[in-house]
Amino acid sequence: MALLVTDTTLRDAHQSLLATRMRTRDMLPIVEKLDQAGFFSLEVWGGATFDVCIRFLNEDPWDRLKAIREKAKNTRLQMLLRGQNLVGYRHYADDVLREFIRLAVKNGVDVFRIFDALNDLRNMEPAMRAVKEFGGHVQGTISYTTSPVHSIEGFADMALELEKLGSDSICIKDMAGLLSPGVTSELVTAIKKKTSLPLDLHSHCSSGMAPMSYHAAVMAGVDIVDTAFSAFSWGTSQPPTESLVAAFKDTPYDTGIDLGLLNEIGEYFATLIPKYRPLFAPETMRPSISALLHQIPGGMLSNLVSQLREQDSLNRLGEVLQEVPRVRAALGYPPLVTPTSQVVGIQAVMNVVAGGRYAKVTKEVKDYFMGLYGRPPAPMNEEIRQLVAGSNGTIDVRPASILEPELEKMRADADKLGILHKEEDAITYALYPQVATKFLRGEIKEEVIPSPAQLPPSEAAPIELPAEFAVDVDGEIFNVKISSVLGKTVETAATKRRNGAKGAVPSPIGGMVLGITVKIGDTVKTGEVVARMEAMKMETEVHAPHDGVVREIIAYEGEVINSGDVLMVVTADGE
Ligand code: MN
Repeated sequence: MALLVTDTTLRDAHQSLLATRMRTRDMLPIVEKLDQAGFFSLEVWGGATFDVCIRFLNEDPWDRLKAIREKAKNTRLQMLLRGQNLVGYRHYADDVLREFIRLAVKNGVDVFRIFDALNDLRNMEPAMRAVKEFGGHVQGTISYTTSPVHSIEGFADMALELEKLGSDSICIKDMAGLLSPGVTSELVTAIKKKTSLPLDLHSHCSSGMAPMSYHAAVMAGVDIVDTAFSAFSWGTSQPPTESLVAAFKDTPYDTGIDLGLLNEIGEYFATLIPKYRPLFAPETMRPSISALLHQIPGGMLSNLVSQLREQDSLNRLGEVLQEVPRVRAALGYPPLVTPTSQVVGIQAVMNVVAGGRYAKVTKEVKDYFMGLYGRPPAPMNEEIRQLVAGSNGTIDVRPASILEPELEKMRADADKLGILHKEEDAITYALYPQVATKFLRGEIKEEVIPSPAQLPPSEAAPIELPAEFAVDVDGEIFNVKISSVLGKTVETAATKRRNGAKGAVPSPIGGMVLGITVKIGDTVKTGEVVARMEAMKMETEVHAPHDGVVREIIAYEGEVINSGDVLMVVTADGE
């Protein structure tokens, strides 16, 4: 069956590579040609495109959408919608959500790719209903991640749930580029078994595997793949449109898209490169497998680096990289995507630099522990939840259901400020009150793209991960080495305890720690299960090699360790 293609050049590609700074005037000259190509859809709108337009470009995002619509009469236009967060960072009330979607449809969006950072369907349902109501196409989205609580079967079940809620198609959103060809094949096969809806694969070249994974997906029966024109492809962006189409030419999956026309469009985008070159960060342009080693997406890694640099603590990056999985485990393994990647990342930094774990917490983390982001994939760590949220209980209802309607008040406020000129302005204001006020008053100046000579050298320097760094684990300093061999992963603190400590309980295999089934102070007998490990997709139990009392637990849930690394210390009384 012919393969369908969604082109992301006007949304995700420039968001991933140049901080979403492409101007509407650089898009419009090529939209008619894009419209002739025969794409399934053109992704042109989303959270960052909306925000950046009004904050930095002095452009009205609604005008951009309308202008593209006028030139693209035959192709579906697509947007990425952050579920109840719409194109912002918090949950908006249902009346704002409904009005936003009504106006998005009115101005030209056909396909709404709807996701939630926690994969909490309750945060997606109202948006899905509104899109149906206004005649749009609902693409129910799975935010792909890996953790001890995520599985192929779980994602396939989610696809079925999304179908039951009225999705017209399903998207696998691999925002961090984690999918390998083998896993992609399994995932696509499992989802296609559960639902007959068209299935889209959205991945990023971050780890370098995406083109191979796309091929595997097509062989396994995926219907749509997301690509970007060559000039804005690779790096942390999507695989190149031209190459993908060429790869399947004259096969049963031939897209039917004309390569000559694609080449012409590709040449146009290439002419934009000199203008935007200063915005391409070198570290986004080469594949990096660090996301696979640390489970930290590329965009989040550069955020961590800049946060630490701001606090003059870049030398503590190693500790933060070790802390991120701990925080993520405590939060119930959320996928790391906006806004959870920020919530987790900032807390990990605080845990390292602010004098003790959870000694300082952000409002976001507190809100998170109070359930205001929704239900995490796994239960949160109860001890830490109580520490952070205090006596505040955790809500277990859909977070937006406790919000009062806010549209009329926002409209009235905007009217009072004298900034309401068209109906869309009320929504722009409701989403981003401070920035929208400035923008709608005409006080935003278009940011200037620096010429290469103006760039300070530090901005151009790639981020180098330290090959070795010191990690402080409960007061003990360990040297941690990053191994460059896939599968060997990171040498952990536990490595240093190999065979050393008396009473050490080593892991018989390398892999991920699924769970520690004992607590400090527990008495265990020889052969008792003390931990569960996952390796090669098989779950394995670790048994106590001798009787004793658990004195110390070294490994943590979600940690990837090597065979022989020490999980815990169990010694007899008096030892
Ligand atoms: Mn993406």
